[in-house]
Amino acid sequence: MGFLQLKQITHYYFNSSSYTKALNNLSISVDEGTFISLLGPSGCGKTTLLSIMAGIIKPTFGSVSINNKPLEKNQREIGYMLQQDYLFPWKNIIDNVLIGPKIVGSQYNEMIEKAKQLLIDMGLKDVIKAYPTSLSGGMRQRVALARTLITNPSLLLLDEPFSALDFQTKLKLEDFVSALLKQYHKTSILVTHDIGEAIAMSDQIYLMSANPGEIHQQFEVPIEIRDLSPFEARKHIKYQHLFDRIWEELNRLETKSAI
Ligand code: ADP
Ligand code: MG
Repeated sequence: MGFLQLKQITHYYFNSSSYTKALNNLSISVDEGTFISLLGPSGCGKTTLLSIMAGIIKPTFGSVSINNKPLEKNQREIGYMLQQDYLFPWKNIIDNVLIGPKIVGSQYNEMIEKAKQLLIDMGLKDVIKAYPTSLSGGMRQRVALARTLITNPSLLLLDEPFSALDFQTKLKLEDFVSALLKQYHKTSILVTHDIGEAIAMSDQIYLMSANPGEIHQQFEVPIEIRDLSPFEARKHIKYQHLFDRIWEELNRLETKSAI
């Protein structure tokens, strides 16, 4: 039985004159401690699916549960990180990390110590009191990750968190995030349109097709790659094999949808 269960999720967006069927009858079961990627062309419903997992959108049909309990009873278990870091420019780094605990209010003093430690672990010791504008994109995303992790969520939802970064920063951050999430034994769902990133970081990959969004195919990442850091994984021969398989499948999907 999976830790996170999505059962027969169908979602429509309505407006006054029309509707879009964003997701069609989609079921996923994710085991605790695994790293899953949702891969697919733009518009296939990745963000919609992640918002449903986060409880931000209620699906038109279907159910989501964590540890066999409905999602509404588990909101505190979920951390959500987006492509844009949404740091508040008028707050310094540690205060940005402490936004969640401040709203919740409990054990705030303990949280200050925890925030400091997280920032030190993330190599951000020297910028604890700095303001977001003085940080690079990669550093800002690390702060956003610290803010996501401070409440100790058991499920981490990552919506293209590396896609706005330059390639070198992205590779470094992938390694960093991968090691960190393994160390904290988090269950993570990464949305990406980058095949290489999906293979290098995940245990399993769900390839989605569009109009309406469906799970088209599931890929298991070979164990030899899973044990490597994302940077090292990219050099493995099995990485290239899987890349080619997924690439072909994505092309087939795009040709089909273009007809
Ligand atoms: P992805 O993240 O894979 O690019 P989205 O989940 O953002 O895909 O979108 C899936 C489909 O739903 C697209 O056709 C998109 O236009 C539509 N959609 C997304 N958000 C809304 C919204 N708020 N209102 C209406 N349609 C939406
Ligand atoms: Mg999206």
